[in-house]
Amino acid sequence: MSERVYNFSAGPSMLPLEALERAGREITNYQGTGMSVMEMSHRSKAFQKIFDDTQAKLRKLMNVPEGYKILFLQTGASGQFSMVPLNLIGKTGKADYAVTGNFSNIAYKEAKKYGEIHLAASSEDQNHTYIPAQSRLDLSPDASYFYYCANNTIFGTEWPYVPETGDVPLVCDMSSDILSRQVDVSKYGVIFAGAQKNMAPAGLTVVIIREDLAGHELPYTPLMMNYKTMIDKDSMYNTPPCWCIYMLGLTLDWLEEQGGVPGMEKIKHAKAQMLYDVIDDSKLFTCAAQKGSRSDMNVTFRTQDPELDAKFVAESVAAGFTNLKGHRLVGGMRASIYNAMPTEGVEKLCDFIKKFDKENG
Ligand SMILES: *Cc1c(COP(=O)(O)O)cnc(C)c1O
Repeated sequence: MSERVYNFSAGPSMLPLEALERAGREITNYQGTGMSVMEMSHRSKAFQKIFDDTQAKLRKLMNVPEGYKILFLQTGASGQFSMVPLNLIGKTGKADYAVTGNFSNIAYKEAKKYGEIHLAASSEDQNHTYIPAQSRLDLSPDASYFYYCANNTIFGTEWPYVPETGDVPLVCDMSSDILSRQVDVSKYGVIFAGAQKNMAPAGLTVVIIREDLAGHELPYTPLMMNYKTMIDKDSMYNTPPCWCIYMLGLTLDWLEEQGGVPGMEKIKHAKAQMLYDVIDDSKLFTCAAQKGSRSDMNVTFRTQDPELDAKFVAESVAAGFTNLKGHRLVGGMRASIYNAMPTEGVEKLCDFIKKFDKENG
């Protein structure tokens, strides 16, 4: 088998090697059950234990307080773009949205089907290269909730602060930075994240919801998109994404060994800082995101010449890196350095950038 590559994909992305290896060892016979987790009834004792343990580990790692439920759902983070308004907008019929990138823009447009949606902030004027300051948020006191996306995966920006919205509950898409920084869950109404960036394979969506917010859904809310259905059945109204939940458990074991979320926060910030320093010190490269709004998870950068960018990407593949080509909405390059990207991978990318800069600058 060939060597593993440093995979800078924005998602699905690298998983911790330890988690993959353990899954490999257990793939045909999970702890003496004679079957893999993929083949197990979701109603079996063995799976129920995996489910309960994984939920408990996540609760502990994120300090999820009482009064909040952790749900393991499907339909991706994108499913939440509908599920959030369907369940939460009924309170006043209104909601505030901050549009700071592609995914929040999709969520904003989707929400308009269900109520009166107010654009509380937008960074579109500068192609989403920055996060609007608190003083720039145009808040409605009668909004049912305030929606934002913590880390903009495509544009490479990350909210450096938690919006203050008074009594209006915060709803946050944390798909691409969950478990990479400490979060005070009690400040939020709903946190959700697709698993395929920082947690597990694609197919699982984690939702953390303040329980009292559920049960007020619009009358035509589909059964499967109703938070209350899933809270009442502990995410097992139907077959949950069993394999992904198991893999999340393995990732969380690994995260615990890294010092939990505070430990991970230090590691990931050091990785990002190292990469930004090299880009800032180079002759050829500039960052897409503005200082103060830069993401620690998705580093977007480019040269002044699209042909040189293409050369960089081609040579990076030959050097053992993959998926460094930027998203078409931004161009240039993007290095997604999620939790599971080893520090060594970022160090090697830094050396590669320095060498490329010297040879082509
Ligand atoms: C990847 C991503 C999504 C989309 O996730 P799906 O699970 O594919 O629906 C939404 N929001 C953010 C911030 C993302 O990074």
